[in-house]
Amino acid sequence: MTAPVALTKKDFETANDVRWCPGCGDYAILANMQRTLPDLGIPREQTVFISGIGCSSRFPYYMNTYGFHTIHGRAPTIATGLKLSRPELSVWIITGDGDALSIGGNHLIHLLRRNPNVQLLLFNNRIYGLTKGQFSPTSEIGKKTKSSPMGTVDAPFNPIQLTLGAGASFVARSVDIEAKHLQDMLKRAHGHRGASFVEILQNCPIFNDGAFDAVTDKATKADIVLQLEHGKPMLYGKERNKGIRLVNGTLDVVTLGENGVTETDILVHDEANLSQAFLLGGLHLPVPVGVFYRVERPVYEDLLNGQVAEAKEKKGDGDLQQLVNGASTWTVP
Ligand code: SF4
Repeated sequence: MTAPVALTKKDFETANDVRWCPGCGDYAILANMQRTLPDLGIPREQTVFISGIGCSSRFPYYMNTYGFHTIHGRAPTIATGLKLSRPELSVWIITGDGDALSIGGNHLIHLLRRNPNVQLLLFNNRIYGLTKGQFSPTSEIGKKTKSSPMGTVDAPFNPIQLTLGAGASFVARSVDIEAKHLQDMLKRAHGHRGASFVEILQNCPIFNDGAFDAVTDKATKADIVLQLEHGKPMLYGKERNKGIRLVNGTLDVVTLGENGVTETDILVHDEANLSQAFLLGGLHLPVPVGVFYRVERPVYEDLLNGQVAEAKEKKGDGDLQQLVNGASTWTVP
């Protein structure tokens, strides 16, 4: 038996012209995915990218794997069907805030509660890019766009809290241009057995430029971003002297040395703590990135395919025509 050939980033690239706008954050996400896949050791022919509609959904064209650019909001549904029939495949869903949280909101939450072993990456740029700049389900209140000239009055979805509420077994957040962190999150998502949800903050320089500048700017990010690490205290800041404390069930941002606060007061991150993950999901400053929550629970394809196997063992292979005919069919002479 010959050893599998080690793949490189180049093996996952295609000759197709990449048609995102210059400077779009999608380029960085694509490059990081192509860098990560060789480390996962999965053959290209066993890797599938499934997308819906939107700028991000062009992703499968640019991956030298199997891929399926499907219909608006329905990528989770098609991915579930594929995973049920071919559980050995590595299935990645690529979607955006418009695709997954508006028309596809229903499909997203049902994917997460069912928990098939797939990865879903939500590129969140807080705008509709492909249709040229309307407010999306994650646009902040008051945002002026072509479809909200006086500022949107819609309260935005919080993707982290929404997916935790839907029963997701793995919820994480990363940033398009944070290469190492994003690659780590992609690996963690892949390593989790169950539906993994990763929100990726993604800049759209054409219609919502700078939405995440504070999170990516070298001058500010240390004081803005909280890196969640399991088992470690939630400290951040240039001096690592700011932190998060739990007081009466709410999160409190504190500075070490002020008002008698010491490191022992700082909350330790626990990826298995759902209530804590929900609180962290609601935190706007600092902005938490990393794995908010992870739990092992039964996987959809195991349960459903297990039932099929059990039924076949008891009753033998089914007969589709007999099933269609049912018990009460008749012939009209
Ligand atoms: Fe990227 Fe925005 Fe252009 Fe879409 S419209 S390709 S999200 S920069």
